[in-house]
Amino acid sequence: MKLSARANRIQPSATLAITAKEKALKAQGIDVVGFGAGEPDFDSPDYVKEAAVEAIKKGYTKYTAVGGIDQLKDAIIERMKLDYGLEYQKPELIVSCGAKHTLFNLTQAIIDSGDEVIIPAPYWVSYPEQVILAEGKPVILETREEDGFRIDPAELKKLITPKTKALVLNYPSNPTGVTYSEDELRAIVDVAMAAGITIISDEIYDKIIYDGKKHTPVASLGEDVKKATILVNGTSKTYAMTGWRIGFAAGDKGVVKAMGDMQGQSTSNPTSISQWAAVSAYASPQDLIVQRTAEFEKRKTYIVDRLNSIPGIKCVSPSGAFYAFPNVSAFYGKSHNGKTVNSSLDFTEFLLEEAKVAVVPGDSFGSDAHVRLSFATSMENIVKGMDRIEETVAKLA
Ligand code: PMP
Ligand code: GLU
Repeated sequence: MKLSARANRIQPSATLAITAKEKALKAQGIDVVGFGAGEPDFDSPDYVKEAAVEAIKKGYTKYTAVGGIDQLKDAIIERMKLDYGLEYQKPELIVSCGAKHTLFNLTQAIIDSGDEVIIPAPYWVSYPEQVILAEGKPVILETREEDGFRIDPAELKKLITPKTKALVLNYPSNPTGVTYSEDELRAIVDVAMAAGITIISDEIYDKIIYDGKKHTPVASLGEDVKKATILVNGTSKTYAMTGWRIGFAAGDKGVVKAMGDMQGQSTSNPTSISQWAAVSAYASPQDLIVQRTAEFEKRKTYIVDRLNSIPGIKCVSPSGAFYAFPNVSAFYGKSHNGKTVNSSLDFTEFLLEEAKVAVVPGDSFGSDAHVRLSFATSMENIVKGMDRIEETVAKLA
Protein backbone atom coordinates (compact mmCIF):
# COMPACT_ATOMS: atom_id res chain seq x y z
CA MET A 1 0.00 0.00 0.00
CA LYS A 2 1.28 3.48 -0.78
CA LEU A 3 2.32 5.48 2.27
CA SER A 4 1.79 9.19 2.82
CA ALA A 5 4.68 11.57 2.17
CA ARG A 6 4.56 12.31 5.91
CA ALA A 7 5.08 8.66 6.83
CA ASN A 8 7.96 8.44 4.40
CA ARG A 9 9.66 11.48 5.92
CA ILE A 10 9.84 10.02 9.41
CA GLN A 11 12.69 7.98 10.94
CA PRO A 12 11.92 5.20 13.42
CA SER A 13 13.00 5.97 17.00
CA ALA A 14 16.59 4.71 17.31
CA THR A 15 16.39 4.48 21.10
CA LEU A 16 13.32 2.28 20.95
CA ALA A 17 14.81 0.26 18.05
CA ILE A 18 17.97 -0.59 20.05
CA THR A 19 15.89 -1.50 23.08
CA ALA A 20 13.77 -3.83 20.94
CA LYS A 21 16.90 -5.42 19.43
CA GLU A 22 18.35 -5.93 22.90
CA LYS A 23 15.15 -7.64 24.08
CA ALA A 24 14.98 -9.85 20.98
CA LEU A 25 18.57 -11.05 21.48
CA LYS A 26 17.92 -11.75 25.16
CA ALA A 27 14.79 -13.72 24.21
CA GLN A 28 17.02 -15.90 22.00
CA GLY A 29 19.09 -16.70 25.08
CA ILE A 30 22.01 -14.45 24.07
CA ASP A 31 23.75 -12.84 27.03
CA VAL A 32 23.56 -9.21 25.92
CA VAL A 33 24.50 -6.35 28.22
CA GLY A 34 22.04 -3.57 27.41
CA PHE A 35 22.98 0.08 27.69
CA GLY A 36 20.23 1.02 25.25
CA ALA A 37 17.03 1.61 27.16
CA GLY A 38 16.50 5.09 28.50
CA GLU A 39 14.40 3.90 31.39
CA PRO A 40 15.17 3.37 35.06
CA ASP A 41 15.81 -0.26 35.97
CA PHE A 42 14.11 0.39 39.33
CA ASP A 43 10.56 -0.77 39.82
CA SER A 44 7.70 1.73 40.03
CA PRO A 45 7.24 2.57 43.73
CA ASP A 46 4.88 0.32 45.73
CA TYR A 47 2.68 3.25 46.72
CA VAL A 48 2.17 4.02 43.04
CA LYS A 49 1.15 0.44 42.30
CA GLU A 50 -1.18 0.41 45.30
CA ALA A 51 -2.88 3.60 44.10
CA ALA A 52 -3.47 1.95 40.72
CA VAL A 53 -4.96 -1.19 42.29
CA GLU A 54 -7.16 0.99 44.45
CA ALA A 55 -8.31 2.92 41.36
CA ILE A 56 -9.29 -0.32 39.64
CA LYS A 57 -11.17 -1.51 42.72
CA LYS A 58 -13.03 1.79 42.95
CA GLY A 59 -14.06 1.50 39.31
CA TYR A 60 -11.99 4.45 38.07
CA THR A 61 -11.76 2.66 34.80
CA LYS A 62 -13.83 4.92 32.56
CA TYR A 63 -13.09 7.89 30.33
CA THR A 64 -11.87 10.90 32.28
CA ALA A 65 -11.64 14.56 31.32
CA VAL A 66 -9.53 14.64 28.13
CA GLY A 67 -6.67 16.63 29.71
CA GLY A 68 -6.58 14.69 32.98
CA ILE A 69 -8.47 14.44 36.27
CA ASP A 70 -8.55 17.44 38.60
CA GLN A 71 -6.91 15.43 41.39
CA LEU A 72 -3.84 14.83 39.20
CA LYS A 73 -3.68 18.44 38.05
CA ASP A 74 -3.86 19.52 41.70
CA ALA A 75 -1.06 17.10 42.66
CA ILE A 76 1.17 18.37 39.83
CA ILE A 77 0.43 22.00 40.69
CA GLU A 78 1.28 21.37 44.34
CA ARG A 79 4.51 19.53 43.40
CA MET A 80 5.72 22.41 41.20
CA LYS A 81 4.87 24.90 43.93
CA LEU A 82 6.68 22.91 46.62
CA ASP A 83 9.74 22.09 44.51
CA TYR A 84 10.23 25.32 42.61
CA GLY A 85 7.76 27.93 43.87
CA LEU A 86 6.07 27.81 40.45
CA GLU A 87 2.39 28.76 40.39
CA TYR A 88 0.10 27.31 37.71
CA GLN A 89 -3.69 27.12 37.46
CA LYS A 90 -5.58 24.09 36.14
CA PRO A 91 -6.43 25.63 32.72
CA GLU A 92 -2.67 26.01 32.19
CA LEU A 93 -2.08 22.29 32.59
CA ILE A 94 -2.70 19.27 30.37
CA VAL A 95 -1.87 15.63 31.10
CA SER A 96 -1.10 13.35 28.15
CA CYS A 97 0.08 9.80 27.43
CA GLY A 98 3.76 10.40 28.31
CA ALA A 99 5.96 13.43 27.71
CA LYS A 100 6.56 12.24 24.15
CA HIS A 101 2.85 12.57 23.47
CA THR A 102 2.82 15.93 25.25
CA LEU A 103 5.58 17.16 22.93
CA PHE A 104 3.76 15.74 19.93
CA ASN A 105 0.56 17.63 20.80
CA LEU A 106 2.59 20.75 21.45
CA THR A 107 4.42 20.71 18.13
CA GLN A 108 1.14 20.04 16.34
CA ALA A 109 -0.53 22.90 18.23
CA ILE A 110 2.06 25.65 17.62
CA ILE A 111 4.00 24.87 14.45
CA ASP A 112 2.84 25.89 11.01
CA SER A 113 4.29 24.71 7.74
CA GLY A 114 7.78 26.19 7.30
CA ASP A 115 8.14 27.40 10.90
CA GLU A 116 11.67 26.95 12.19
CA VAL A 117 12.37 25.30 15.52
CA ILE A 118 15.86 25.56 16.99
CA ILE A 119 17.07 22.27 18.48
CA PRO A 120 20.43 22.16 20.26
CA ALA A 121 22.53 19.13 19.26
CA PRO A 122 23.19 16.51 20.52
CA TYR A 123 19.41 16.19 20.91
CA TRP A 124 16.92 13.56 21.96
CA VAL A 125 15.90 11.61 18.88
CA SER A 126 12.23 12.61 18.79
CA TYR A 127 12.54 16.42 18.63
CA PRO A 128 13.49 16.83 14.96
CA GLU A 129 11.09 14.11 13.87
CA GLN A 130 8.16 15.68 15.69
CA VAL A 131 8.94 19.08 14.19
CA ILE A 132 9.03 17.45 10.73
CA LEU A 133 5.70 15.72 11.41
CA ALA A 134 4.25 19.17 12.14
CA GLU A 135 5.66 20.35 8.77
CA GLY A 136 8.16 22.60 10.55
CA LYS A 137 11.87 22.86 9.91
CA PRO A 138 14.33 21.69 12.57
CA VAL A 139 17.28 24.11 12.76
CA ILE A 140 20.17 22.45 14.55
CA LEU A 141 22.25 24.46 17.01
CA GLU A 142 25.58 22.68 17.36
CA THR A 143 27.27 22.60 20.75
CA ARG A 144 30.86 21.62 21.46
CA GLU A 145 32.17 18.79 23.57
CA GLU A 146 34.95 21.12 24.85
CA ASP A 147 32.19 23.35 26.31
CA GLY A 148 30.53 20.34 27.97
CA PHE A 149 27.88 20.50 25.21
CA ARG A 150 26.60 23.82 26.59
CA ILE A 151 24.56 26.11 24.36
CA ASP A 152 26.44 29.27 23.40
CA PRO A 153 23.89 32.13 23.51
CA ALA A 154 25.79 33.98 20.73
CA GLU A 155 25.50 30.93 18.45
CA LEU A 156 21.80 30.68 19.28
CA LYS A 157 21.28 34.31 18.32
CA LYS A 158 22.86 33.72 14.90
CA LEU A 159 20.26 31.05 14.06
CA ILE A 160 17.19 33.17 14.80
CA THR A 161 15.28 34.31 11.70
CA PRO A 162 11.81 35.82 11.20
CA LYS A 163 10.60 32.24 10.73
CA THR A 164 11.84 31.01 14.11
CA LYS A 165 8.89 29.84 16.13
CA ALA A 166 10.47 28.08 19.08
CA LEU A 167 13.60 26.93 20.87
CA VAL A 168 13.73 23.47 22.44
CA LEU A 169 15.57 23.27 25.72
CA ASN A 170 16.20 19.93 27.41
CA TYR A 171 18.21 19.87 30.59
CA PRO A 172 19.47 17.78 32.20
CA SER A 173 19.93 16.62 28.64
CA ASN A 174 19.35 13.31 26.99
CA PRO A 175 21.93 12.31 25.70
CA THR A 176 24.71 14.60 27.03
CA GLY A 177 23.64 15.13 30.65
CA VAL A 178 24.44 18.84 30.40
CA THR A 179 22.53 21.08 32.74
CA TYR A 180 22.65 24.84 33.38
CA SER A 181 23.19 27.14 36.32
CA GLU A 182 20.64 29.91 36.70
CA ASP A 183 23.01 32.45 35.13
CA GLU A 184 23.80 30.25 32.15
CA LEU A 185 20.11 29.61 31.62
CA ARG A 186 19.28 33.28 31.85
CA ALA A 187 21.80 34.13 29.13
CA ILE A 188 20.16 31.59 26.79
CA VAL A 189 16.63 32.60 27.69
CA ASP A 190 17.42 36.30 27.18
CA VAL A 191 18.17 35.60 23.51
CA ALA A 192 14.87 33.75 23.05
CA MET A 193 12.92 36.44 24.88
CA ALA A 194 14.47 39.24 22.80
CA ALA A 195 13.41 37.36 19.66
CA GLY A 196 9.88 36.77 20.99
CA ILE A 197 9.95 33.03 20.41
CA THR A 198 8.37 30.23 22.40
CA ILE A 199 10.56 28.18 24.72
CA ILE A 200 9.72 24.49 24.83
CA SER A 201 11.40 23.31 28.00
CA ASP A 202 11.62 19.55 28.41
CA GLU A 203 12.63 19.10 32.04
CA ILE A 204 11.82 15.41 32.35
CA TYR A 205 15.17 14.68 34.06
CA ASP A 206 14.85 17.56 36.58
CA LYS A 207 15.11 15.27 39.59
CA ILE A 208 18.02 13.22 38.27
CA ILE A 209 20.82 15.68 38.85
CA TYR A 210 24.35 15.21 40.25
CA ASP A 211 27.37 16.87 41.81
CA GLY A 212 25.16 18.80 44.24
CA LYS A 213 23.72 20.83 41.33
CA LYS A 214 20.26 22.35 41.52
CA HIS A 215 17.65 22.35 38.77
CA THR A 216 16.27 25.74 37.77
CA PRO A 217 13.09 25.60 35.67
CA VAL A 218 13.04 28.12 32.81
CA ALA A 219 9.62 29.29 33.98
CA SER A 220 11.07 30.33 37.35
CA LEU A 221 13.21 33.05 35.70
CA GLY A 222 10.41 35.62 35.75
CA GLU A 223 6.75 36.14 34.92
CA ASP A 224 7.48 37.20 31.31
CA VAL A 225 9.68 34.13 30.76
CA LYS A 226 7.02 31.87 32.29
CA LYS A 227 4.48 33.30 29.81
CA ALA A 228 6.73 32.44 26.87
CA THR A 229 7.52 28.93 28.10
CA ILE A 230 5.74 25.62 27.81
CA LEU A 231 7.15 23.36 30.50
CA VAL A 232 7.12 19.62 29.76
CA ASN A 233 7.63 16.90 32.35
CA GLY A 234 6.20 13.55 33.39
CA THR A 235 6.41 10.54 35.68
CA SER A 236 8.50 8.22 33.47
CA LYS A 237 12.02 9.00 34.64
CA THR A 238 11.54 10.46 38.13
CA TYR A 239 9.22 7.72 39.36
CA ALA A 240 10.37 4.83 37.15
CA MET A 241 6.94 4.83 35.48
CA THR A 242 7.81 4.56 31.79
CA GLY A 243 5.07 2.04 31.06
CA TRP A 244 2.28 4.00 32.72
CA ARG A 245 2.47 6.78 30.10
CA ILE A 246 1.88 10.00 32.00
CA GLY A 247 3.38 13.31 30.88
CA PHE A 248 2.20 16.88 31.17
CA ALA A 249 2.63 20.41 29.85
CA ALA A 250 2.22 23.65 31.81
CA GLY A 251 1.95 27.05 30.19
CA ASP A 252 -0.15 29.37 28.06
CA LYS A 253 -3.88 28.61 28.38
CA GLY A 254 -4.54 28.99 24.65
CA VAL A 255 -1.78 26.54 23.72
CA VAL A 256 -2.92 24.10 26.42
CA LYS A 257 -6.48 24.29 25.08
CA ALA A 258 -5.31 23.60 21.54
CA MET A 259 -3.28 20.63 22.79
CA GLY A 260 -6.40 19.36 24.57
CA ASP A 261 -8.40 19.69 21.34
CA MET A 262 -5.75 17.64 19.49
CA GLN A 263 -5.84 15.06 22.25
CA GLY A 264 -9.64 14.98 22.24
CA GLN A 265 -9.58 14.02 18.58
CA SER A 266 -6.78 11.48 18.86
CA THR A 267 -6.08 9.55 22.07
CA SER A 268 -8.69 11.07 24.45
CA ASN A 269 -7.61 10.96 28.11
CA PRO A 270 -4.45 9.26 29.32
CA THR A 271 -5.26 5.95 31.04
CA SER A 272 -7.50 6.56 34.06
CA ILE A 273 -5.62 4.06 36.26
CA SER A 274 -2.24 5.59 35.41
CA GLN A 275 -3.56 9.00 36.32
CA TRP A 276 -4.45 7.81 39.83
CA ALA A 277 -1.04 6.17 40.11
CA ALA A 278 0.52 9.50 39.13
CA VAL A 279 -1.47 11.34 41.82
CA SER A 280 0.26 9.07 44.33
CA ALA A 281 3.67 9.62 42.69
CA TYR A 282 3.42 13.40 42.96
CA ALA A 283 1.65 13.60 46.32
CA SER A 284 3.67 11.01 48.30
CA PRO A 285 6.91 11.79 50.16
CA GLN A 286 9.78 12.05 47.68
CA ASP A 287 12.53 10.26 49.68
CA LEU A 288 12.72 7.28 47.35
CA ILE A 289 13.53 9.58 44.43
CA VAL A 290 16.46 11.09 46.31
CA GLN A 291 17.80 7.60 47.15
CA ARG A 292 17.53 6.48 43.55
CA THR A 293 19.29 9.55 42.25
CA ALA A 294 22.13 8.83 44.69
CA GLU A 295 22.35 5.32 43.22
CA PHE A 296 22.43 6.74 39.66
CA GLU A 297 25.23 9.06 40.74
CA LYS A 298 27.39 6.14 41.96
CA ARG A 299 26.90 4.43 38.62
CA LYS A 300 27.69 7.63 36.74
CA THR A 301 30.99 8.03 38.55
CA TYR A 302 31.92 4.42 37.88
CA ILE A 303 30.96 4.30 34.18
CA VAL A 304 32.53 7.66 33.31
CA ASP A 305 35.79 6.67 35.05
CA ARG A 306 35.85 3.32 33.28
CA LEU A 307 35.12 4.89 29.88
CA ASN A 308 37.82 7.53 30.32
CA SER A 309 40.35 4.88 31.34
CA ILE A 310 40.00 3.16 27.95
CA PRO A 311 42.55 4.44 25.41
CA GLY A 312 40.66 6.11 22.55
CA ILE A 313 37.50 6.91 24.54
CA LYS A 314 36.73 10.36 25.92
CA CYS A 315 33.63 11.00 28.02
CA VAL A 316 32.31 14.26 29.46
CA SER A 317 30.87 13.63 32.92
CA PRO A 318 27.08 14.17 32.82
CA SER A 319 25.57 16.52 35.43
CA GLY A 320 22.16 14.89 35.19
CA ALA A 321 19.94 12.28 33.46
CA PHE A 322 21.31 8.73 33.21
CA TYR A 323 23.36 8.64 30.05
CA ALA A 324 27.06 8.60 29.26
CA PHE A 325 27.85 10.02 25.82
CA PRO A 326 31.46 9.09 25.05
CA ASN A 327 33.36 10.19 21.99
CA VAL A 328 34.56 7.06 20.19
CA SER A 329 35.69 8.65 16.93
CA ALA A 330 39.35 7.78 17.66
CA PHE A 331 38.41 4.25 16.56
CA TYR A 332 37.03 5.32 13.19
CA GLY A 333 39.17 3.97 10.39
CA LYS A 334 40.31 1.01 12.53
CA SER A 335 39.44 -2.61 11.74
CA HIS A 336 38.96 -6.04 13.21
CA ASN A 337 38.38 -9.31 11.34
CA GLY A 338 38.24 -7.45 8.03
CA LYS A 339 35.53 -5.04 9.19
CA THR A 340 36.30 -1.34 9.43
CA VAL A 341 34.53 0.94 11.87
CA ASN A 342 33.78 4.28 10.23
CA SER A 343 30.76 5.65 12.07
CA SER A 344 28.77 5.49 15.29
CA LEU A 345 26.50 2.93 13.65
CA ASP A 346 29.49 0.75 12.68
CA PHE A 347 30.86 1.07 16.22
CA THR A 348 27.48 0.10 17.69
CA GLU A 349 27.24 -2.94 15.41
CA PHE A 350 30.82 -3.91 16.23
CA LEU A 351 30.07 -3.80 19.98
CA LEU A 352 26.88 -5.78 19.58
CA GLU A 353 28.49 -8.49 17.46
CA GLU A 354 31.87 -8.77 19.15
CA ALA A 355 31.07 -7.87 22.76
CA LYS A 356 27.32 -8.54 22.99
CA VAL A 357 26.91 -5.04 24.36
CA ALA A 358 24.10 -2.78 23.14
CA VAL A 359 24.62 1.00 22.91
CA VAL A 360 22.83 3.63 20.80
CA PRO A 361 24.65 5.28 17.85
CA GLY A 362 25.24 9.00 18.38
CA ASP A 363 24.20 9.66 14.81
CA SER A 364 20.53 9.50 15.83
CA PHE A 365 21.21 12.24 18.40
CA GLY A 366 22.94 14.43 15.84
CA SER A 367 26.55 13.48 16.64
CA ASP A 368 28.24 10.70 14.74
CA ALA A 369 31.42 10.91 16.87
CA HIS A 370 29.59 9.54 19.91
CA VAL A 371 27.57 6.63 21.23
CA ARG A 372 25.11 6.68 24.11
CA LEU A 373 25.16 4.32 27.08
CA SER A 374 22.26 4.39 29.52
CA PHE A 375 23.46 3.65 33.03
CA ALA A 376 19.91 3.10 34.25
CA THR A 377 20.89 -0.52 34.69
CA SER A 378 22.39 -2.47 37.60
CA MET A 379 25.98 -1.91 38.75
CA GLU A 380 26.60 -5.58 38.01
CA ASN A 381 25.57 -5.07 34.37
CA ILE A 382 27.64 -1.91 34.13
CA VAL A 383 30.78 -3.68 35.40
CA LYS A 384 30.20 -6.62 33.04
CA GLY A 385 29.46 -4.37 30.07
CA MET A 386 32.47 -2.14 30.70
CA ASP A 387 34.79 -5.17 31.00
CA ARG A 388 33.51 -6.38 27.66
CA ILE A 389 33.84 -2.98 25.97
CA GLU A 390 37.38 -2.51 27.27
CA GLU A 391 38.47 -5.91 26.02
CA THR A 392 36.71 -5.62 22.66
CA VAL A 393 37.74 -2.15 21.52
CA ALA A 394 41.37 -3.15 22.14
CA LYS A 395 40.97 -5.50 19.15
CA LEU A 396 40.45 -2.56 16.77
CA ALA A 397 43.72 -1.75 15.01
N1 PMP B 1 12.00 13.81 26.67
C1 PMP B 1 13.20 13.22 26.84
C2 PMP B 1 14.42 14.08 26.80
C3 PMP B 1 13.31 11.85 27.02
O1 PMP B 1 14.50 11.28 27.18
C4 PMP B 1 12.14 11.08 27.04
C5 PMP B 1 12.29 9.60 27.27
N2 PMP B 1 11.72 8.79 26.42
C6 PMP B 1 10.91 11.73 26.86
C7 PMP B 1 10.88 13.09 26.68
C8 PMP B 1 9.60 11.01 26.81
O2 PMP B 1 9.27 10.32 27.95
P1 PMP B 1 7.86 9.68 28.16
O3 PMP B 1 7.11 9.74 26.89
O4 PMP B 1 8.12 8.29 28.62
O5 PMP B 1 7.20 10.50 29.24
N1 GLU C 1 13.67 8.52 26.05
C1 GLU C 1 14.21 7.22 26.28
C2 GLU C 1 15.51 7.13 25.50
O1 GLU C 1 15.98 8.09 25.01
C3 GLU C 1 13.26 6.10 25.97
C4 GLU C 1 13.05 5.77 24.53
C5 GLU C 1 12.33 6.85 23.80
O2 GLU C 1 11.21 7.17 24.19
O3 GLU C 1 12.92 7.37 22.88
O4 GLU C 1 16.08 6.10 25.41
